Amino acid sequence: MMREHARLVECRRGALCARRTCTSSARLAAVLGLVALVGPSPVQAWIWPEHRDIAVEAVRELPAAERKALEAMWTDLTSDAGPQLCRTLVSAGAEPQSKLGDWSAVCIDFPSYPALGGDHSCSTADLRAVTEKEDWGRKVAWVAQRSKVKLAEAGASPERLEAWNRSHLAMQYVDPAYLTRAAGNNAHFLMPRAPIEEPETIDSYVAKTLAEGAGISATAMYVQYHVLALRLAAQYHAASAAVRPDLARRALLAEGIALHFLEDSFSSGHYAATWGTAAWQKGTHDLYCEIGLTSMTWDGELFASYGDAHMREHDKKVAAATIGQSLSQLTAAASGSLRVSSAANAPEEKAIEDLDFCKAKTLPSMPLDPVAKAEAVRTLRKTPVPSGDQKEVHPPRARADIGPFAGVVAGIAAGPAFGGYDTQAGWRFRTEFEVGARFGYGLEGVLTKAMDGQIWTQATFVADPAQLDVSCPGCPGGTRTNTALPRVPARSALKLAFRMPYYVVPFDLLVLAPVLFFTSKDALQEVIFASASGGLLTIERPLPTNLGTFQFMAGREFGITFWGYLGSVDQFIATPTTPPTQATSQLVDYKSLEFDFPVFEYVPPRAFATTLSLAAEFQAGFSVEFPQNATLPLQGNQPYPGLAPSWFVYLRLRLDARKYFGGASEDWSN
Ligand SMILES: [Zn+2]
Repeated sequence: MMREHARLVECRRGALCARRTCTSSARLAAVLGLVALVGPSPVQAWIWPEHRDIAVEAVRELPAAERKALEAMWTDLTSDAGPQLCRTLVSAGAEPQSKLGDWSAVCIDFPSYPALGGDHSCSTADLRAVTEKEDWGRKVAWVAQRSKVKLAEAGASPERLEAWNRSHLAMQYVDPAYLTRAAGNNAHFLMPRAPIEEPETIDSYVAKTLAEGAGISATAMYVQYHVLALRLAAQYHAASAAVRPDLARRALLAEGIALHFLEDSFSSGHYAATWGTAAWQKGTHDLYCEIGLTSMTWDGELFASYGDAHMREHDKKVAAATIGQSLSQLTAAASGSLRVSSAANAPEEKAIEDLDFCKAKTLPSMPLDPVAKAEAVRTLRKTPVPSGDQKEVHPPRARADIGPFAGVVAGIAAGPAFGGYDTQAGWRFRTEFEVGARFGYGLEGVLTKAMDGQIWTQATFVADPAQLDVSCPGCPGGTRTNTALPRVPARSALKLAFRMPYYVVPFDLLVLAPVLFFTSKDALQEVIFASASGGLLTIERPLPTNLGTFQFMAGREFGITFWGYLGSVDQFIATPTTPPTQATSQLVDYKSLEFDFPVFEYVPPRAFATTLSLAAEFQAGFSVEFPQNATLPLQGNQPYPGLAPSWFVYLRLRLDARKYFGGASEDWSN
């Protein structure tokens, strides 16, 4: 506890090395049980088509001579590569209109590199594989184009949210490592700016991100990969024709990765959510991606942008101007007009080229060519200043529904009941009240907000008023509509309920999770994400609309009520149809187990602020009650054989108030 506290204090001081380590240890402390398996939530940046669109715009705006130089590099690269790369620098083939399965019509062009360079690959070798060799590279491009069309059609939220969710699911389908790749570290985020009392320039900020032991960040990623790209471009300029294709490839791969992280720096969610535990960073990221955030650039101009999946035309143009500047520098190095050293690569430069940046917590240092570094810093002047740290002025923060919680629930269910209690036909009206507590784990919005990853167990006290017949044709003893002799007298009991997502069959995670935990954690993460996204077949995906969320959720929730097992005995009055007794009625003591299966759920827009969540849930479902033990107490406890299963079809309204734990509430003391 003390050590954790000490780390947090260190964090608040803004110590640059402690900062990111702190984030990961606070994360570790915050996440229990399942999240220890799942790891931090994946937060990507601009979605694929946005990443590519920024780069397309940047290439389009390049001066003719620079564009020509870039095209020459591309031609050199493609002369040495297979048919998967488009023949031209920017190609319509990378925005395929072809049918599903017609992969040969799809190709990868240069603006696709920044899109593939961080979210679909973890190193330059990975990026080479996905762009030149791996079949799924083409599928990713195809899915990206489909997502772009769907997002354009969707317009504003909440349909946009649904389109965004579907695009993630489709990406996961064609690239199974998609989610795990994004969950590894903070490479896609910016480090917080310094306290306002310590004037910070882009030079000192860059120095801070590159300091030894500093956590990995989008800025450091850009600087190191861009410097590497410029060095390779300078070597390309000096090289003989025979080795030029390979140097063109390596320079463009390094620049592709650099541009991914430079583009990320322009996404509002990424300059807003600069610190915090997984749930808070994710919640803050999602909030500002959607509503945008005002900042300023390092050279002092007003800056405001939206973020992932919400990019506007203006956002694209502003980011593209800076991406274009970076590309100009690359072409200047490749044509010899920028005096970057063309000496052979140092081992440290090779190490960066070979690095797995999805797993790295900190970037290894590398000697930075002074000319190339100055160019990288010059580019970064036009990027937004990130938000302040925890103890600094920073925008209000939000929390994602992730982590352990406890809460109270209260509800009422009503509907027709039939069967059992001496009835074979007709029906009676049944209501049920419940109040109780719930404990669980939220995995809502781990990927997008349209997920159902809630896992909880609930104990409630349920009370049923007396059930009167509405109709009972042919029932022995007639229709019971008076409260003195109801069909089923008032009763109360303990009810337990459970909820969890499933992969293929209900509650399969109970078996799958422990097995995969010991065999393949990557597979486990994928299974959990797929389950939270509506299962393997995605039919249980929550559908967000303006009116709230609709979900077919059969099998995710299950309840069991113990009638007559705790406390008082449940009784009902039977009407015997056969001797031996001449009495018109018989008192029956009984116990029964009732199994509850909600099928559909509707949740109106819910309130979620910092750590408190309040939701109303409407559920439609059914339950079946099996009598276990029925006796006749006035006849010497003889068994009574006449109780049959009884059914209940209901509509339920439940209020659910939750308090999330895990990690500090950081901004508000609630
Ligand atoms: Zn990114």
